Amino acid sequence: MSGIKSVGIVGAGQMGAGIAQVSAQAGYDVLLYDVSPESIEKGIAGIKKGLAKLVAKQALTQAEADAALARVQPGTLPEVARQDIAIEAATENETIKKQIFRDLADHVGTDTILASNTSSISITRLASVTGRPHKFIGLHFMNPVPIMRLVEIIRGIATDVPTYEASLAFAQSLGKTTANSEDFPAFIVNRILIPMINEAVYTLYEGVGTVEAIDTALKLGANHPMGPLELGDFIGLDTLLSIMNVLHDGLADSKYRPCPLLVKYVEAGWLGRKSGRGFYDYGGETPVPTR
Ligand code: NAD
Repeated sequence: MSGIKSVGIVGAGQMGAGIAQVSAQAGYDVLLYDVSPESIEKGIAGIKKGLAKLVAKQALTQAEADAALARVQPGTLPEVARQDIAIEAATENETIKKQIFRDLADHVGTDTILASNTSSISITRLASVTGRPHKFIGLHFMNPVPIMRLVEIIRGIATDVPTYEASLAFAQSLGKTTANSEDFPAFIVNRILIPMINEAVYTLYEGVGTVEAIDTALKLGANHPMGPLELGDFIGLDTLLSIMNVLHDGLADSKYRPCPLLVKYVEAGWLGRKSGRGFYDYGGETPVPTR
């Protein structure tokens, strides 16, 4: 038994909204907070759309979808901090995340578990600013959360056994399979996946292939469901660059240097699907390669 009944989420972007949806579907009451009220509105609209898709596929009844949607409510940061588990899913930036955890720690209940959905940042370092690192854990959901079956679980150096066991039971109660990772930069999935996408950007940068050629090659040649550049756009190029920087800084190995073309795209605000343009342009009916 996880003992967790209520869930608070900080960050209502693609990941926060997804975690809110699967938690509500599993019967948890969810409070959603974001620094941008627009993101909360967009997040809840996205959950409504996601649930409607499941009703159309007959995976949920309309009554179940309505009940799940009603369980997700906007909340303030102090309210989020008082839930049984507060999961941070804000922008992949260590300064931002540390400030969020300092603020959450000021308001937590005695038993609240603090969790981060970070893709790459040290759980031990994030936990260190809370004054209660034993009640802190990494719960790394995959994108899109309602579809992807894995949650990586990362214990910081101080995470205690009850926090780990409650978090494991919580992830399993959402229907997810878990994999434990030690607390090293980018954990397991992104340690392997993100350098591959960065290498695909190098392949484009060096003119080895066009966007279309690179994605077609990996889809048909390696049987990947999405091409690496398409996947980069889906993840978000800002998130991708942040993860490469964490790998580069944390492992001090030049093989993790971010591709200059990736840096340039992020500087241009071309962040992939979420901004309408990345390695593809998403303005029309079908995505069009930009190189
Ligand atoms: P996103 O850009 O869609 O959403 C981030 C949200 O955080 C935005 O709504 C933003 O307003 C909010 N935010 C920023 N600063 C905040 C603050 N101080 N307080 C509250 N909210 C704040 O990003 P995302 O893709 O949902 O990623 C969120 C987290 O999940 C990141 O840590 C990312 O690394 C991780 N993650 C992403 C993926 C992916 O494929 N995109 C997969 C797994 C994990």
